[in-house]
Amino acid sequence: MRKVYADNAATTALHPQVLEQMMPYLTTVYGNPSSLYRVGAVAKEAIEDARAKIATLIGANSANEIYFTSGGSEADNWAIKGICRALKKKGKNHIITTKFEHHAVLHTCKALEKEGFETTYLDVYENGIVKVEDVKNAIKDTTALVTIMYANNEIGTIQPIAEIGKLCRENNVIFHTDAVQAVGNVEIDVDKQCIDMLSLTAHKFHGPKGCGALYCRRGVRPEILIDGGAQERTRRAGTENVAGIVGLAAALELAISTMKERNERLTKMRNRLIDGLLKIERSRLNGDRDQRLPGNLNMCFEGIEGESLLLKLDMAGICASSGSACTSGDLDPSHVLLSIGLPHEIAHGSMRLSFSDENTEEDIDYILEQVPPIVDYLRMMSPLWEKIKEEERNN
Ligand SMILES: *Cc1c(COP(=O)(O)O)cnc(C)c1O
Repeated sequence: MRKVYADNAATTALHPQVLEQMMPYLTTVYGNPSSLYRVGAVAKEAIEDARAKIATLIGANSANEIYFTSGGSEADNWAIKGICRALKKKGKNHIITTKFEHHAVLHTCKALEKEGFETTYLDVYENGIVKVEDVKNAIKDTTALVTIMYANNEIGTIQPIAEIGKLCRENNVIFHTDAVQAVGNVEIDVDKQCIDMLSLTAHKFHGPKGCGALYCRRGVRPEILIDGGAQERTRRAGTENVAGIVGLAAALELAISTMKERNERLTKMRNRLIDGLLKIERSRLNGDRDQRLPGNLNMCFEGIEGESLLLKLDMAGICASSGSACTSGDLDPSHVLLSIGLPHEIAHGSMRLSFSDENTEEDIDYILEQVPPIVDYLRMMSPLWEKIKEEERNN
């Protein structure tokens, strides 16, 4: 049976070249970067090289603006909690975000509400794109932070980041973006785009799991989240994940150097798949068709349960997702699909496919061959589908 991994928005395979660069730091160069002997100093050097590389790759002014974390969730928590708690002392207690952020952002805002913060959750409309005008109207004197994701992890829609950045700059409001899905997939320049803080994580672009970074513009001072030793210039404690950090930089360099070609190829492949799947009756594409990540497709098929679709796809060797890996297992429909106005019963029948460099045209052929009969089969047994058909007949 053919195997197709189409869940690259959940995580990606570690690239062999990245592993190769990590290997010394998993084996012989095991010294603690904070120590004074040679094997520690070599590790320290590797960290600083990686920091400088990452800074350059995202358009930061200085390597000192990059802080390593355990991943995207920690970077989001630190950015949001850190800056909000720091600014609360200056009378700021308002956060602006969107309804369809990753839970690392939404649950962080919820936690801050218990500390006295008020959050505005902006609409993202049917196309899954926030309106800059809405951000503008939501800003007030007490606004501490605007946090809006760069690209959505379920429907892949890309937000007008540079415009929001400019608006925040003009209004003296800190702008954070969860760019976990965007980094390595779209061109990012934190300086040109007026981004003050940015979260990224290695395992979404063929790097290792458990290592990410927070970009934090000079002068932006979030409170410390992880107290302890003096690592990361005393801002984030804990012995560095040296191999992870080296892998993060290697993976980012690779992703960016191959981005243009990959995106052209993935966009073509994905569009062919969208067109093919839209031939299924009562199917729909979720999120804007063009302003989305090249490798992302998210569709609904009325009258079926996403979970049963995923199980059937798994039996056919296809790894897909119903949306966020973090919500599978609970039966509520995705908050992202509800945020773009889908009714509950339709949001239940969703499928996300996300592709990377490793996917081929043959994968697309195989998915196009497998999905339609599976949807037919599930609908045949679905009382919901029967009801839809009956309503059709009565109209
Ligand atoms: C995966 C993801 C995260 C979480 O990153 P981890 O490194 O797994 O903690 C945060 N935000 C978005 C948009 C993501 O896709």
